[in-house]
Amino acid sequence: MTDQPVEARCDHCKQTRPLFLYEPEHNVHLNPALMAACRWCNRDKQPLLCARCWGAERELEESDSGLNQEADTWAQICAANARADARREARRQADRETCEGIARATADPAA
Ligand SMILES: [Zn+2]
Ligand SMILES: [Zn+2]
Repeated sequence: MTDQPVEARCDHCKQTRPLFLYEPEHNVHLNPALMAACRWCNRDKQPLLCARCWGAERELEESDSGLNQEADTWAQICAANARADARREARRQADRETCEGIARATADPAA
């Protein structure tokens, strides 16, 4: 929201009120096929809404079951990525220790 709302006709209730640009909170869709069908992402232009309509819109977005489902999928993907990263990091660490072991062994003539 901006500090200095403009007074104009709300895109929803058509009353002259201070307006705020509505921006979907989920922002972009993970799945382009879903994005094409998404009522929030697929607008030419996000609406200018009065505080009341803005709140109603956000509530609608938050209760959108498709979005919630996608958020779950997203969380699962993030968790899987985190696990993969942890595995990669563990492997890197093991490789580094092996390399250091070899370096130490080759650098030390007594070994
Ligand atoms: Zn309104
Ligand atoms: Zn969307």
